[in-house]
Amino acid sequence: MNWINRFAELGPGYSTKVLPSPVPQAFWVSRNFELSETLGLPPAWLMGDEGLAVFSGNGAWEGMAPSASVYSGHQFGQWAGQLGDGRALSLGEYQSPSRTIEIQLKGAGKTPFSRMGDGRAVLRSSIREFLCSEAMAGLGIPSTRALCLTSSPLKVLREELETAAIVTRTAPSFIRFGHFEHFANNVGSEGFQALKNLADFTRQNFLQTNDEFSDNPYANMLHTVTVKTADLVAQWQAVGFCHGVMNTDNMSILGLTIDYGPFQFLDGFNPLHICNHSDHQGRYAYNRQPQVAYWNLFCLAQALMPLIEDQDLAMRALEDYKSRYADAWLSKFLNKLGLPFPADSSSRASDLGLLNELLDILAKEQVDFTIFWRRLSHAVSERAAEHASWQHVSELFLDQSAWKSWQLKYVQRLALMDHLISQQTMLLANPKYVLRNHLAEAAIQKSKLGDHSEVETLFKLLKSPFDEQPEFDHYANLPPAWAADIEISCSS
Ligand code: AMP
Ligand code: MG
Repeated sequence: MNWINRFAELGPGYSTKVLPSPVPQAFWVSRNFELSETLGLPPAWLMGDEGLAVFSGNGAWEGMAPSASVYSGHQFGQWAGQLGDGRALSLGEYQSPSRTIEIQLKGAGKTPFSRMGDGRAVLRSSIREFLCSEAMAGLGIPSTRALCLTSSPLKVLREELETAAIVTRTAPSFIRFGHFEHFANNVGSEGFQALKNLADFTRQNFLQTNDEFSDNPYANMLHTVTVKTADLVAQWQAVGFCHGVMNTDNMSILGLTIDYGPFQFLDGFNPLHICNHSDHQGRYAYNRQPQVAYWNLFCLAQALMPLIEDQDLAMRALEDYKSRYADAWLSKFLNKLGLPFPADSSSRASDLGLLNELLDILAKEQVDFTIFWRRLSHAVSERAAEHASWQHVSELFLDQSAWKSWQLKYVQRLALMDHLISQQTMLLANPKYVLRNHLAEAAIQKSKLGDHSEVETLFKLLKSPFDEQPEFDHYANLPPAWAADIEISCSS
C-alpha cells in the first residue's frame, strides 16, 4: 500500500477523518507534470479521469484516509483560538519510490474546522496559489508545491458569485506554528503529552539537525525552525515578495512559503507597501515582515516552553534569528549587487553602507524593483558608465545626481571584482520574471471565461525566472497603470 497518514496516526486529537465534497463536471485547469515526475508520482494520476476525480474531490484511491487537522494561531497579533484546516484536507502521505510526500486538497469542501466558511476556494485565488507556488520554486525559494489545479461550474459566494476551484498541493508536511500553539494552549496532563508527541513527530521526521542546542531536542527544534524562517524571509525580501497574511497559522514549521492568499511581488520599491487590502494597520507591510517572523517565532517558542523548560536556552535559540537574518539578508542583497559576503567587519560596514544608500534611493523614487536589478545585472559587464546598458539603468531615476553619485561608488567597488563572476552572480540573483499582480490578474480574467492558456503560459515562464526567454520580454515590462488598482484581500 502506497498511502500512509502518519499525522493522523498521532491520534484523534490531531485530526479528524473527513471526505472531500464532490463538485459537478470537474475539469483540469492546469497540471504540473514536471513536479509529478520529480516526486515520483504515478504518471497516470495527471492523465485520466480517475486522477481528475481524486484531485477535484470526487473520488479516492485505495488506501487514502483523508483528514483535516486542528491548529490554532495568532491572527494580526491577536490570539484567535482554534482554527484548523477549514478548507484544506490531507489525502495522506504518498510513498513514491523516491520519497514520502503529503498531498492536500485546498477548497474541497467543509471540514469540522470550517467554522462559518464554506470550505471552498475560488478560481481567482487558486490560480494565484498554483502559479505562485511554482514561481517560488523557480526562484529557488522554499514553498509548498502545486501539483494541479481543477475547477467546476460550481459557484461559491464571496462578494459576488465566483467559480470554485481546488488546488492540489504537496509538501513533506503542512505542520504550522499554530499546531504547536494549539496544544500548548490546551496543556493539562493530556495536553502536555499531545504537545510532546507532536514535537517529537515533527523533529524526528522533518527537522533532524545537529547544532549547539542538540542537548535539548526541543531547543534544537526551535533553533532549526528559527534558522529556516530567517533564511526564508531573507529570500522573500530579496525578490520583493510580501506574504499578506503572516499569521502564526500561516507559518510552516519547515520554513516553507505556505498559504498564498494576498501576496505580492513589489512593483515599485516601496518598503512600506501593504499587499493585503484587509491589513489596515500595515502589520504585514514589506519592511515589517522580518520582524513579524521573529514575533511569530516568539509565539512558537512560548508554545514549546513546556518542553524546552529552560527559558534562557529558548531565548538563545530564538535570538539567533537576528544575526542569522541579518547575514542571510546581506548575503542575498550583496549577491544582487554581484558582491560576495564580506570577509571582515570593515568590508561588511562599507558594502552595507553602499547597499543601504542604494535602497534609500530606490525607495525615494519607488523604482521598479525587479526591472532595476535585472537591468543592473546586464550593465555590470560594461565598465564604461556611458554604455547603453548603463543608460537603461540610469533612465529609471528622476534624481540623476543621487543615482550618478551612487553609481560612481558602485563602479569603483565593482572594479575590485571579476566582472564576469559578478555578472553571473547577478543574473542568478535578480530574476527577470516574477508573478506580478497584473500578470496573475490577466490569467485569472481569461480563465474565468474558460480560456486557461494564460495560466499555462505563466506557469511555464515562471519556472525559469532567471532565463532570458526573449519571446516573453513583454512579461518583464513595467506594470500597466491599472495594476495599482488591483485589490487583494483575505476573502478568497
Ligand atoms: P487563511 O486566512 O486563509 O489562512 O485562513 C484562516 C482560517 O480560516 C483557516 O483555519 C482556514 O482554514 C479558514 N478558512 C479560510 N477560508 C475558508 C473557507 N472558505 N471555508 C472554511 N474555512 C476557511
Ligand atoms: Mg491559512
